[in-house]
Amino acid sequence: MTGRDHRDLGGPTEKCGVVGVSLDERAAARPLYYALYALQHRGQESAGIVTHDGFQQHSHVEMGLVGDAFDEDDIDQLNGPVGIGHVRYPTAGSVNASCAQPFSVSFKSGSLGLSHNGNLVNAGEIRDELANLGHAFTSDGDTEVIAHDLARNLLEEDLVRAVKRTMSRIHGSYSLTIMHDDTVMGVRDPQGNRPLCIGEIDDGYVLASESAAIDVLDGELVRDVKPGELIILQPDGEGFDAYQLFEQENTAHCFFEHVYFARPDSVIDEKLVYDVRRDLGRALWDESGVDTDVVMPVPDSGRAFASGYAEAAQEEDASVEFAEGLMKNRYVGRTFIMPTQDARERAVRLKLNPIKDVVEDRTVTIIDDSIVRGTTSTQLVQLMRDVGADEVHVRIGAPPIIAPCYMGIDMASREELIASDRTVPEIGDEIAADSLEYLSIDAVADALDQSRADLCLGCVTGEYPYDIEGETTDRDVDRPVIGSEPAAADD
Ligand code: AMP
Repeated sequence: MTGRDHRDLGGPTEKCGVVGVSLDERAAARPLYYALYALQHRGQESAGIVTHDGFQQHSHVEMGLVGDAFDEDDIDQLNGPVGIGHVRYPTAGSVNASCAQPFSVSFKSGSLGLSHNGNLVNAGEIRDELANLGHAFTSDGDTEVIAHDLARNLLEEDLVRAVKRTMSRIHGSYSLTIMHDDTVMGVRDPQGNRPLCIGEIDDGYVLASESAAIDVLDGELVRDVKPGELIILQPDGEGFDAYQLFEQENTAHCFFEHVYFARPDSVIDEKLVYDVRRDLGRALWDESGVDTDVVMPVPDSGRAFASGYAEAAQEEDASVEFAEGLMKNRYVGRTFIMPTQDARERAVRLKLNPIKDVVEDRTVTIIDDSIVRGTTSTQLVQLMRDVGADEVHVRIGAPPIIAPCYMGIDMASREELIASDRTVPEIGDEIAADSLEYLSIDAVADALDQSRADLCLGCVTGEYPYDIEGETTDRDVDRPVIGSEPAAADD
């Protein structure tokens, strides 16, 4: 285990990518494989696909990157025109094959496959209850809890009611792709914390965490799955049925998806991530611009912020020049997953190298999307000085991260977060910058066209939209209750 906050939320966090496909005749395995490639940034620990050929499930789940987890033979043996897939992020807790997904089980009324992105806050409770009823668990992840609960409900109810019952019991963040026998479904939690969208391709339909996965299949984004909605893909790739199972007054979309996690070429909740990042960059200039000789992004996620920032600056006749003064070595893993501080520092140095000519004898602003522990910015400020920068200013395209994420983004524990107990000027001193400014929460809400009440801002306010033991919540957390008959929505 690393030093993250391990409240008993029922298992490790699941910061992942999910996909589901229903096609006319063609095998689903290859499109699923391509879609997982497009979602690789959402998880590098394991990759898996489960398909169904009308008679039985076929599964291949392995540790490692998508490209390493499958070979031609693996894809060939994944028969059937329907299937689901998953990429999993390396997290604390169980970094082992028992947590790799899709999770699959066979039970009395058929087979079930499940891919989960998000994190339940009451999985422990449900696990204990089901274990007392004789359910045997093979992993400590919350996905298996959902699978068992759903399997149990499917013994008594039809598909839509069974999903609705499970949704009324589980609480927290979840975007799921589910396969029950040869029916593929997508479900988004009633507050829509993690993204999930629907796409149409030549011979069928796709559900995916991000629209970039639909693009690689030459498909069209149809729309986002709505919070609280169940989408059932029709067999033969004919279309889909939509059921609005729960409606809540407020959503809790994760703003950090737009700031850092998602691909810039994805559209999430009707917003192109790239545009949001550019708008955030513009807002950063408006709120705390500093007219240095040069502004440079921390690649890759800082790029769109810096270009928006430079554009807004130039519109006001500031002389700041946009330059790519930091080069990234793509083959170094995310610094975040390095086990020790020393290894993290080494990884930043391996990963990012300055171009001396761009920096020497000039005043510089570095733009990054976020500061977590402060390792990256501390190292970069020092590097800039080492290659001769006159001044080094840091601007961050998100508010200070002061609290952990329990909803599926792998942050750090409170003790590790540099902003949890420091003011902005103190952090500026700590990273030895000439100045440091973050973006305001209101600027984030504006760029996303959302009210603050519809966003999950837990990591920047310390108040969460869910009921988490030992933390405060920013709303009335009503668990959805089983209500009226589920009605199909037209689509
Ligand atoms: P740190 O060096 O700990 O301050 O982390 C900040 C850097 O990590 C920034 O360059 C971010 O782009 C990146 N980052 C932010 N959040 C995450 C995350 N959840 N996982 C991996 N990297 C992250």
